[in-house]
Amino acid sequence: MDTRVLEIKKNLDENIINEKIKPAADIIAAGGLVAFPTETVYGLGADALNEKAAEKIYAAKGRPSDNPLIIHIADFDDIYRIGEDVPEAAKKLSDAYWPGPLTMIVKKKSTVPYTTTGGLDTVAVRLPSHPVARALIRESGCLIAAPSANTSGRPSPTLAKHVIEDMSGKIEMIVDGGSCNIGLESTIVDLTEDKPMILRPGYITLAMIKEILPDCEIDPGIIASDSLQKPKAPGMKYKHYAPKAELTIVDGAEEAVVRKINDLSAKYRNEGKKVGIIATEATLSRYNGDDVENIGQRGDEAMIARNLFSILRDFDSKDIDVIFSESFESPDVGRAIMNRLLKAAGHKVIKAE
Ligand code: AMP
Ligand code: MG
Repeated sequence: MDTRVLEIKKNLDENIINEKIKPAADIIAAGGLVAFPTETVYGLGADALNEKAAEKIYAAKGRPSDNPLIIHIADFDDIYRIGEDVPEAAKKLSDAYWPGPLTMIVKKKSTVPYTTTGGLDTVAVRLPSHPVARALIRESGCLIAAPSANTSGRPSPTLAKHVIEDMSGKIEMIVDGGSCNIGLESTIVDLTEDKPMILRPGYITLAMIKEILPDCEIDPGIIASDSLQKPKAPGMKYKHYAPKAELTIVDGAEEAVVRKINDLSAKYRNEGKKVGIIATEATLSRYNGDDVENIGQRGDEAMIARNLFSILRDFDSKDIDVIFSESFESPDVGRAIMNRLLKAAGHKVIKAE
């Protein structure tokens, strides 16, 4: 298949975006696949209510069929087209954080095919803020099922060139809207149980959800590093975000971490391996490696989130053999950053004493 790339800058006038998006919208309406930018990461979209179309997403990504898709809507009321018994909490969260990087799980209506929900009786819904994504939904006249537009298991795409790497020849079109602002997938909140529960941490933090829904908790399955407890979101159990090189997180006080990573780097380079290091602004110049990448200032979690997946992919293209990263745990966006980093590392963490 020939994959067309269509460039649409997100800061254009709304009417111009609506006009430019038409060829992409036509593909979605006809049951085809289009990758498009959102504020979180690039999504791989298809008509969510067309079973045949949704099936193509799993095939293009090599995604396990029990890993459900998120349905993207352009107006809050669309949630009633796919959700049954939508709770009051959904409206409250929407008023606070939609459009934005938040996904809600509600009971599904029978109109939503099980292909889209991975066989579940619940459905994941998000109202994105990205003007190109919103134009695509509106102009196609469809609700758009879209997981991240990467090959299953690889780091999520935050630039069109990442999507081209993974999806060229497999889908009809890639809409290039530049870089994704947030760079991590949406926060997922399950609203189908007694208490709201975060199934995937993201840019919208636990504290932000608690401001609206004070009894919200975090799924213990995504915190447990021993992985004895299974996460509730099917996708969270899979190895994900992994670069080709082996990644290890080094945790501890700054001095100790720098020393440990440099020791390990020297050891591997002696063996002829190419070493990549994920550093911060403050530590960048103190590392010796084949490729030392600056992920941002430690205090600027938004910047670190935006850079993470792109850096992991760059290591792949530079044929790095082993990667060492500093650790980024925090109660806020750091929770989401560490969740992705831990999965990319297969939970391999070394303590630097
Ligand atoms: P991605 O497209 O890569 O952001 O993946 C979507 C995420 O949403 C995966 O982790 C899914 O397991 C999760 N998800 C989608 N629908 C549901 C649902 N109905 N219940 C729980 N998790 C869901
Ligand atoms: Mg994904």
